[in-house]
Amino acid sequence: MAVLDAQTFRNYVGGEWVDAASGETFESTSPATGERLGTFPRSAADDVERAVAAAKAAWEEWRLVPAPKRGEILYRFANLLAEQKDELAELMSREMGKVLPEAGGDVQEAIDMSLYMAGEGRRLFGHTTPSELRDKFMMSVRMPVGVVGAITPWNFPIAIPSWKIAPALVCGNTVVLKPAEETPLMAERFVELFEEAGLPPGVLNVVHGFGEDAGDALVRHPDVPIITFTGHRETGIHVTKAAADALKHVHLELGGKNAIIVMDDADLELAVEGIVWSAFGTSGQRCTAASRVIVHERVYDALQRKLVAAAESMRLGVGWDESTDLGPVISGAALDRIHSYTQVGRDEGARLLTGGEIASDGELEKGFYYRPTVFGDVEPQMRIAQEEIFGPTTALIPVRDFDEAVRAANGIKYGLSSAIFTRDVDRAFRAMRDLQTGITYVNAGTTGAEVHLPFGGTKDTGNGHREAGQAALDVFTEWKSIYVDYSGRLQRAQIDNVERPAP
Ligand code: NAD
Repeated sequence: MAVLDAQTFRNYVGGEWVDAASGETFESTSPATGERLGTFPRSAADDVERAVAAAKAAWEEWRLVPAPKRGEILYRFANLLAEQKDELAELMSREMGKVLPEAGGDVQEAIDMSLYMAGEGRRLFGHTTPSELRDKFMMSVRMPVGVVGAITPWNFPIAIPSWKIAPALVCGNTVVLKPAEETPLMAERFVELFEEAGLPPGVLNVVHGFGEDAGDALVRHPDVPIITFTGHRETGIHVTKAAADALKHVHLELGGKNAIIVMDDADLELAVEGIVWSAFGTSGQRCTAASRVIVHERVYDALQRKLVAAAESMRLGVGWDESTDLGPVISGAALDRIHSYTQVGRDEGARLLTGGEIASDGELEKGFYYRPTVFGDVEPQMRIAQEEIFGPTTALIPVRDFDEAVRAANGIKYGLSSAIFTRDVDRAFRAMRDLQTGITYVNAGTTGAEVHLPFGGTKDTGNGHREAGQAALDVFTEWKSIYVDYSGRLQRAQIDNVERPAP
């Protein structure tokens, strides 16, 4: 990959590229090498003000653009993403750290979501239903709401903005995006491609900066009726409180502590493959990462041996090297937090089976690398089995039977994803029914959503909304019920619904 020329980037407001009013900046650096990738405006409330004003003004026209035409822009955007997929994946690997195939998958998810939502331009179905009165027609339609404030994390820096922005736009809203401060370069490229796809000025605006200033100002802005947020549980609570006084719609996608159950009749080779992919992929920095593996005691030793061997064979390195299995974690602070959980696990009496170390030999010394870590003999109530670590650490929890496995899986505050490896169809169906998560996989790991089903979680993973699929449309529209009376006289529902001859 060519060495990137670190440049100065700007906010995108009303179709113009502009600096922060304060002139302050921050830098994006590679977690793999420490290389400086670019300088970005450190925005604050007045920058948010300008972006919201642009989005509000653009909404007046955008809401009237026919939805199929809005969809056509998403088709063009998807095509541009596809054309530039390899280049975007390399940049993402550099800025965020994930390995190239996963970075390509991140871009592909945005392509898929944009195509799916482009198609919504010709659907956006409402309902018609018969009236109780004669000569009266009734329907419900989805209405755009206005300016959407989208606040996104760094771990899927192209996919997650697309999950929010594609449905928001096709539904007729305009958007102000506050991307994660760790991955501003990806957000910049994302918006450039929308500009190239022909999105009118002001329909999508980007304000770079930190959560506590730009993010908070967006959440509190009175002209932003919808906040769609993905990030930590604690940040989500903060966002909810900040938005409460204005009674905003708040859509939250928060953390996870996802479990894979391995029963005694499972295909163990397949289960290990699924665990490795789900626990260590993206260095464990996925909301759907499998940070718990709940194993039937009859296969516990065999599974543990296979998993430890697989973890120890993983090669750490920069994400854009094809021989790398595991890239860096996002920052020095993340590395410290992940490492601190290794001490927590030891102190709690769990058995460290492999990993548990910062990797800094040779070239790794320039970045933030952590060895894939497996704890054995973990009890469900231990902190390492309860708290989101967001790193390449997973906890093996032995259980005696299916019921104990389900109890352990459900005994946490999160409810995003779950998985079961079993060949018993009865158990598989009971798991689908009893696991309290928004997503359940049978004979696959906890990660790997497709865009046309709802994505999100129960309990503290969110607040009842869903991203993706048809469910996403509910976040970005309000239902309007419309009654058309063509009887030529006043008819009162519930009062005049007695048989009368037609006029
Ligand atoms: P984070 O909460 O630190 O930050 C997310 C975004 O919120 C960033 O853009 C940040 O600047 C902004 N922010 C921070 N404080 C804010 C405030 N006070 N007001 C407004 N905005 C603020 O999360 P992160 O480290 O970027 O992401 C990791 C977390 O995201 C994990 O918990 C992970 O599980 C979760 N996640 C969830 C999903 C999902 O769909 N459920 C997907 C990906 C990541």
